[in-house]
Amino acid sequence: MLNLWSMWGNAGVTWRWNGGNPIVLVENANYINGNDGLTLGHFAFLKESAVTDADTYHHELAHVDQHDILGEAYLPLHILAQAYSFARTGHYAKANPLEHGPP
Ligand SMILES: [Zn+2]
Repeated sequence: MLNLWSMWGNAGVTWRWNGGNPIVLVENANYINGNDGLTLGHFAFLKESAVTDADTYHHELAHVDQHDILGEAYLPLHILAQAYSFARTGHYAKANPLEHGPP
């Protein structure tokens, strides 16, 4: 059974600023499956192995910007883009424009 308290035991939770935009950064979020990071709204979670990886951090900040631009449409659009990508490539991110940005 998942122990919610142990999930947070080793986490470093800090406020960051992306320009004037607040970000709650949760470090050592090793309970994330599959990815080095995960972002929900203004909460960015990074696995311990990705905490010092600037590329992963900036990738997650791009999702915060997408969230701010698309508003309530962001999450359903991202889920649709994942489904589209999976149908085309067998992977949720390979053909998902929200994971790669403009070409
Ligand atoms: Zn991503």
